[in-house]
Amino acid sequence: MKYAEEFRDPIAARAVLDKIQQVVDQIGATAEKPVHIMEICGGHTHAIFRYGLDKLTPAGIEFIHGPGCPVCVLPMSRVDECVELAERPEVIFTTFGDAMRVPGTRKSLLQAKAEGADIRMVYSPLDALEIARRNPDREVVFFGLGFETTTPSTALSIQQAAREGLENFTVFCNHITVPPPIKALLDDPHMVLDGFVGPGHVSMVIGIHPYDFIAEDYGKPLVVAGFEPLDLLQSVLMVLEQIRDGRAEIENQYSRVVPDDGNPVSIAAIADVYEERPTFEWRGLGEIDASGLRIRDTYAAFDAEVKFGIGYGADRRIVAEPEGCSCGAVMTGRMKPVQCEQFGKGCTPEMPLGALMVSSEGACAAYYQYGGARAAEPAE
Ligand code: SF4
Repeated sequence: MKYAEEFRDPIAARAVLDKIQQVVDQIGATAEKPVHIMEICGGHTHAIFRYGLDKLTPAGIEFIHGPGCPVCVLPMSRVDECVELAERPEVIFTTFGDAMRVPGTRKSLLQAKAEGADIRMVYSPLDALEIARRNPDREVVFFGLGFETTTPSTALSIQQAAREGLENFTVFCNHITVPPPIKALLDDPHMVLDGFVGPGHVSMVIGIHPYDFIAEDYGKPLVVAGFEPLDLLQSVLMVLEQIRDGRAEIENQYSRVVPDDGNPVSIAAIADVYEERPTFEWRGLGEIDASGLRIRDTYAAFDAEVKFGIGYGADRRIVAEPEGCSCGAVMTGRMKPVQCEQFGKGCTPEMPLGALMVSSEGACAAYYQYGGARAAEPAE
C-alpha cells in the first residue's frame, strides 16, 4: 500500500477485523476476561477513538491507554517553573502550542501570557533560535518537551547555537524517554498487561531494539505500529497472534517508516547533547529511574536550569494533583476517563483540570472529542 486512503479502506479493515475475531476466539478472550493491550503512544489513543476502533474490535480486547503523551505526564512543578521563567522580564519564553494550557499550581502558560508574560508559540526550536538572533538583548528560553521524537531537534538547535556562539539562547529541558515508564508499569503488581502496541514516531528515532527487554525479561509481545486504522488493526492482530502462539517478540508493523536500528544521525545528536537524569517525575506515575534527560555540562551555557538556577534534585518540590483529579489512575489503566468524577464536568478541553484533557493526545481529550462525553452522561 502506498497512499493514506488505502490504509483506511473499509473492506480491508473488515477482513482484518474478521481475523482479529478468529484469534480472540482461539485465545478464549471475552468481555469478562479480556486481553489487555496497552497502546503506549497518545497518537495511537487518538487514532483508536477517531476511527472508532475501540468499538469495531471484539469485546474480548481491552485497550489500556499508556503514558505516551508528553504534555500529559509533565509534572505540575515543572509547569510552575515554566511560568516563573516566562514571567522574568528579560525572558522571551518559546514553546510548542500544546503546552500552553497545561495547568500549573498558580496558572498555565496561557494565563501567564494573558497577564503580560512574553510567551511565543513556535513550531520548531529553530524558530526559537531565530528569535534569539533577532533579540540579542533578551534571554530566549525554549521549552524542550517531549519523547525521543522531539529530543533530536532540540539537540540539533543546541549544537547550532553552540556553533554560532549565541549567548542568549537556552533550553529548559524536560525531554523524557519511553522505555523506562514501560518497565515501571510492568513492575507494578497491580497492572495487568498482555501486550503492547509500540509507538511509531519514537521508534523512528530509536528503532525497535530498546524494547527487547519487554519480550526477553517480561515475556510480553510488542508491535511497533503506524497511525492509520489499518496499521493499528494489523498491529493488534500481530499482538494477538503472538499471545495465541505463546510467543513474545518485538515486531515492526511500521517498517515503511521505522528502521529496526533507528535513525543514526538523531541517535548521535541525542548522545552528544544529553545525559540521563538519575530520576524524573511523571505526572500521575511518580518518580521513574533514568526516565528523563538533562543537558550535558559541555553545553551548560545553553541549559536554562544552569543559567536561571533551577535545580532538579532530591530536595525539589513535589506538587500534588488537584482534588478529584484521577489522571494517575487513568494513565495506569485502573480507570477509564469517563469514570473520573470530573470528566465533562469540572474538567473539559476548554477548562482542563488534569493534563490528560489538555493535549489532543491525552486519553481524556480523545474520549471527550470522539463520543466519550456522551458515555459520561447518565443513562435514561
Ligand atoms: S477527566 Fe480530567 S481530572 Fe479526570 S482523569 Fe481526565 S484529565 Fe484527569
